Amino acid sequence: MHNKTIAELSAALRAGEVTSRELTRHFLERIRSLDGGLNAVITVTEEQALAQADAADARIAAGQAGPLTGIPLLHKDLFCTDGVRTSCGSRMLDNFVAPYDAAVVERLREAGMVMLGKTNMDEFAMGSSNENSYYGPVRNPWDTERVPGGSSGGSAAVVAARLTPAATGTDTGGSIRQPASLCGITGIKPTYGRVSRWGMIAFASSLDQGGAFARTAEDCALVLGAMAGTDPRDSTSIEREVPDYAAGLDADLSGLRIGLPKEYFGEGLDAGVAAAVEAAVETFKSLGAEVREVSLPNTHLAVPAYYVVAPAECSSNLSRFDGVRFGHRCENPKDLTDLYERSRGEGFGPEVQRRIMVGTYALSAGYYDAYYLKAQKVRRLISDDFLRAFEEVDLILGPTSPSTAFRLGEKAADPVSMYLSDIYTIAVNLAGLPGMSVPAGFADGLPVGLQIIGNYFEEGRMLNAAHRFQQATDWHTRAPHGFE
Ligand code: GLN
Repeated sequence: MHNKTIAELSAALRAGEVTSRELTRHFLERIRSLDGGLNAVITVTEEQALAQADAADARIAAGQAGPLTGIPLLHKDLFCTDGVRTSCGSRMLDNFVAPYDAAVVERLREAGMVMLGKTNMDEFAMGSSNENSYYGPVRNPWDTERVPGGSSGGSAAVVAARLTPAATGTDTGGSIRQPASLCGITGIKPTYGRVSRWGMIAFASSLDQGGAFARTAEDCALVLGAMAGTDPRDSTSIEREVPDYAAGLDADLSGLRIGLPKEYFGEGLDAGVAAAVEAAVETFKSLGAEVREVSLPNTHLAVPAYYVVAPAECSSNLSRFDGVRFGHRCENPKDLTDLYERSRGEGFGPEVQRRIMVGTYALSAGYYDAYYLKAQKVRRLISDDFLRAFEEVDLILGPTSPSTAFRLGEKAADPVSMYLSDIYTIAVNLAGLPGMSVPAGFADGLPVGLQIIGNYFEEGRMLNAAHRFQQATDWHTRAPHGFE
């Protein structure tokens, strides 16, 4: 049952072969028996899940079901969930019970999805390995000595381990695509503004975007279709109709123009990853696509620009966690300064503190022009690179991550080498473009992800390409040992 896709489970539910309650129990049981070795789930909401499953079964019986009705999922623990702890992977919010549902949670609930619980994540979504969580690291189901990627590593791990058919995530600099790649599943980060950020705890507001993990592009199409749409509560959400992503999946790829950025295939890319991505490109050629080289000349500036913009925005967003208005409060403060200092010092982990300090520095009066303003200008150059490339091609393909899953602890002491693991994903966020990662093979037994980048609002075209690729390959069907 857990190897079936959402599309298959949905058909089984409607045919009466299984009930949502049975499905929900099955996945809850898998979480109970298998998550111990992964640490991917922070909170299980069993009672609520069974009540939602019963409601879904009633809806199915009444003939009012949509394609997601009765399908279980887990939410990344930075989406606010009414009455349920929303920790953001931080001690700061360890005891925070959200008083409302995030827009994404609300929409998927209305579509009839059943929330099983909340997934582990890097604290405040800062990280690429999921080692920055207050709740301990998440382990990769393909090799539990290795990281699942971050910051949505818990969400990627639960889908790869078949503890749920789908999960939500957020991507500020690669946090959906990179863990999807390292865990061998499919993940999509839509265009900035496509999905409401309301109720999604902010890290870097001009970059954060919610999206979906599943095993197939078809399943991502279904979940994204239900998540996406305008929301008056998020002023950056875009007023634009949501296409029927599932309806466009089968379109023929002949004549599709694919660009390979030469900057994505140079130094720093592991040979095994390069080989898998090149083989994937050959598959696209055999499906009728035309492939040419493109150039994104400012790629090398993406990581440095991001590590000014993202910390600057985080230092501002996280100022609300002061132990008074929000968040952990220290014991017996001497005075107000002591209260602020100790509450924030105890509540935030080292990576979050590092970012707040870097960001506060970059925004300070004497340095604003030299760092923040400069980074914003570089950001524009990076967007222009993509716009130029998209005059020539329909989609851009490349590796999602320069390597497969690395070992726990391998990069933890070296933030710069950790930051470089997002070298192919970060520019997409700076430009606000949609991107996805699709399983494209293995290197030394570990999954490799192919990144597909589209022009603004071209999620449908990306999902179509990914779906056709998945019909021609079977990488997305492979299960990690012990989780089959
Ligand atoms: N790894 C990047 C960072 O640490 C991106 C994180 C994300 O996308 N949330 O900021």
